[in-house]
Amino acid sequence: DIVLFHSFFNRIIDRFEMSKSDKVMFERLFPEASYYVEIDTDKVTQVIDNIISNAIKYSPDGGNIRFGFTVQGNMLKVMISDDGMGIPKENVGRIFDRFYRVDRARARSMGGTGLGLAIAREMIEAHGGKIWAESEEGQGTTVFFTLPLDLDDFDEAGEWE
Ligand code: ATP
Ligand code: MG
Repeated sequence: DIVLFHSFFNRIIDRFEMSKSDKVMFERLFPEASYYVEIDTDKVTQVIDNIISNAIKYSPDGGNIRFGFTVQGNMLKVMISDDGMGIPKENVGRIFDRFYRVDRARARSMGGTGLGLAIAREMIEAHGGKIWAESEEGQGTTVFFTLPLDLDDFDEAGEWE
C-alpha cells in the first residue's frame, strides 16, 4: 500500500495514547511536508507496535516518549525515543538478535520473549530499510528505522505533494 506516513504513524500512536498511563507523555515532532511510503502496512504496524510497547515497558517511571521522522536522501527516517532505563553501551548492538534480552532477571518479570526487535529487523530489511538504536543507561533509548520514500509523489518543482 502507498500511505501518507504521518497519518499512518498518527493512527498507531493514537491507539497507544488511548490506553497509556498518565505517567507517560507522548510528544509528536512531525514535519509539515507530506511523505509517502510504499509498505506492507500490517508488517510496519507490527514493527512500530513493538517499539512503542518496549518504550512503555522499559520506562517504569514514565517520562516522555517522542515520535518523529525526517527525510535523509531517498529514505524516510523514523525515530521513537524514551526516557526509560536505557541499555548498557556494550549491549545496544545485540537487542535486534533473536531472544536477546538485556537483563534476564529484570526482563523476565516484564514478560515477552525477546523476539520483538528481531522480527522488526527482518521486516524493515525486507522493505529495504535499516533499524538501529542509540541508548544511554539510566537515561533512555532511541530506536531509528528507515523506509524507502515513494518518489513518485515527489513533483517536478521538488515539492512533496
Ligand atoms: P517481546 O518484544 O518479544 O515481547 P522483549 O520486549 O523483551 O520481548 P525485544 O522487543 O526484542 O524483546 O527487545 C529486546 C530487549 O532489548 C528487551 O528485552 C530489552 O532488554 C531491550 N530493550 C528494547 N527496547 C528497549 C527500550 N526502549 N529501553 C530499554 N531496553 C530496551
Ligand atoms: Mg518487545
